[in-house]
Amino acid sequence: MAEIELRSLRKTYGKVVAINDLSVHIPDGEFLVLLGPSGCGKTTTLRALAGLETLDRGRILIGGRDVTLLAPGKRGIAMVFQSYAVFPHMRVFDNIVFGLRMRGVPPGDQRTRAHEVADLLQIRNLLDRYPAQLSGGQRQRVAVARAIVMRPDVLLMDEPLSNLDALLRLHMRAELKRLHRELRATTVYVTHDQVEALSLGDRIAVMKEGEIIQCATPSVIYDTPANRFVGSFIGSPPMNFLSGTVAGADGSLRVEVAGTVLALPPRAHPAGGTPAQVTIGIRPEHIAVEFSAVPAAVPAQVSVLEPIGSHQLLTAQVGADIVKVTVPPEFAAEPGRAVWLRFDPARVRLMDPATGQAIAVS
Ligand code: ATP
Repeated sequence: MAEIELRSLRKTYGKVVAINDLSVHIPDGEFLVLLGPSGCGKTTTLRALAGLETLDRGRILIGGRDVTLLAPGKRGIAMVFQSYAVFPHMRVFDNIVFGLRMRGVPPGDQRTRAHEVADLLQIRNLLDRYPAQLSGGQRQRVAVARAIVMRPDVLLMDEPLSNLDALLRLHMRAELKRLHRELRATTVYVTHDQVEALSLGDRIAVMKEGEIIQCATPSVIYDTPANRFVGSFIGSPPMNFLSGTVAGADGSLRVEVAGTVLALPPRAHPAGGTPAQVTIGIRPEHIAVEFSAVPAAVPAQVSVLEPIGSHQLLTAQVGADIVKVTVPPEFAAEPGRAVWLRFDPARVRLMDPATGQAIAVS
């Protein structure tokens, strides 16, 4: 069992707090993605887990064993970096078996294991080449092969696809997913690419300023972001945010946007009360566009229509707010035209404008 437990980790570099009281439990075999903007502490967290950083505070357990003070080589982990880090003067075969050789694994076993992982990564025909004779994607496969040949309990990956071109990234992303299904090593994967996170993660830990803001399955993160930051970091284009007013203080919670009361399912006011103003969070694909006023539809004005292949992106003005809506390729509307936007009531997320936190409603 290689479950991982990070308990209240803290790491500072002088005045910079890289990780602040970070805790997460990663069950055996899970693929956890650390996602967040540049500088939020993803790499530091991964390096601390690998034993490459000394923590100011906190404990790290792998498989129930406290490894906080253990050397990297004794933690049962393997790491794949963004920069491949393959040895240029060694053939692919020697790169793959390097770690096994250092551990004194007999040459026959080295060969068998190297061939196993080379088959898994479809690089068997490249074993005699030098890294300089490989494409970026092939080199990255060698780096992955070199990590998994060690049969680690835990696999750590730091932006392993970011040096690849867009098409290759897409291909390698699917490969990594397949590989994880076959190996089931507990995996922690760092990226700032939200699509990669949504595609690969069993769970995503969204980080900001050294802390985990929300840790949940991709669908929970996407559908019910814990706050405005998560809603705007995930999704392309991100979630829309509009100002709303709470109408009628008593009974169920009613929300008004640009003078229109939204047809939200009846909700109780949250414990602790509802602020007079709320932020409405709604994703671009959860808005329908009407050309006439229909009940509960919010009046808007078309600003721009952008065709992007499979669909179009409509930008509309609602009062002082800008809203992006996903519309079909055949949709047509001139800039300036009046439209009415119907928000899917089940998909509307309410947030406190002061804190950005989602308002828990029942
Ligand atoms: P990126 O996506 O850009 O790699 P990240 O989320 O991985 O960013 P970290 O590399 O973990 O972020 O850095 C977290 C914070 O710690 C940043 O403010 C960074 O400048 C700082 N930091 C990281 N390493 C060091 C170091 N060796 N010395 C000083 N500050 C550091």
